Amino acid sequence: MVQKTLNSYLKSRYGKKIYKVSIDAGFTCPNRDGTLGTKGCIFCSAGGSGDFAEDSKLSITEQIEKGKKRIASKLPDGDYGLIAYFQAFTNTYAPIEKLEKVYMEAVAHPEVEIISIATRPDCLSEEVLNLLGRVNEIKPVWVELGLQTIHEKTAEYIRRGYPLNTYDEAVRNLKACGIETIVHVILGLPYETREEMLETVRYVGESGVEGIKLQLLHVLENTDLADDYRAGKFECLSLDEYASLVKDALDVLPENIIIHRMTGDGDKKILIAPKWSEDKKNVLNTLHRVCDIRD
Ligand code: SF4
Repeated sequence: MVQKTLNSYLKSRYGKKIYKVSIDAGFTCPNRDGTLGTKGCIFCSAGGSGDFAEDSKLSITEQIEKGKKRIASKLPDGDYGLIAYFQAFTNTYAPIEKLEKVYMEAVAHPEVEIISIATRPDCLSEEVLNLLGRVNEIKPVWVELGLQTIHEKTAEYIRRGYPLNTYDEAVRNLKACGIETIVHVILGLPYETREEMLETVRYVGESGVEGIKLQLLHVLENTDLADDYRAGKFECLSLDEYASLVKDALDVLPENIIIHRMTGDGDKKILIAPKWSEDKKNVLNTLHRVCDIRD
């Protein structure tokens, strides 16, 4: 592996460990509120992919403080910084005044070094891009785009709700604003071949973004994906298949892209499959061995 992992990138850029605090700012998603649909993406849990985020009833500052306390209890003397990670649902999908309020509250926290905002490529209007550009002048902003696949037949099956050229346009616009972009890709989506998954990874690498998150497909309770899985319509990848896929994915990515994630956590309380992914230590050891990763 030649690319940098997020850990080594942050260590070289900040000279200290940087930890993520996952925030739930109480947003929704156009794929759930009826604008595009009401059922959401086929794999998305009731928490809107933010199952590890703090409580949305708390203010942004309170959520950051709560996450910080958890980190500090493990590292009492540690010198570290924080990433305020707006994770749950679509974090650019709200009135602009509300967005400005929550982003600026996160920026104002003294230990926050980076604001990371998970969203959809079709929720980046000019007004939102201007705001992100302004926040980026105060502290670095990362935008995380949920692409998952470049293949239209899969995009339809997962009910993603936007075409590929919307992704291309969002990447161009974010680049023009000087904002670092990270792209989520899911490996193991039903009915995709290994080559199709690698085509998605190659496409993301060639689209000029700064980072990628490789995410193992998780089947979670109370999703339509779980119904299809239980009906035997598809199988999940084995750990060996996944590790060899990640190795090939790293081989088709450019050297300068940062690998933000190579697996991902499914909330154990609602994870149906693949069960091997619960043993995080074993998964990481296998990935490190197969992919020759040095953090
Ligand atoms: S866009 Fe994100 S939050 Fe919305 S339904 Fe899909 S995965 Fe869930």
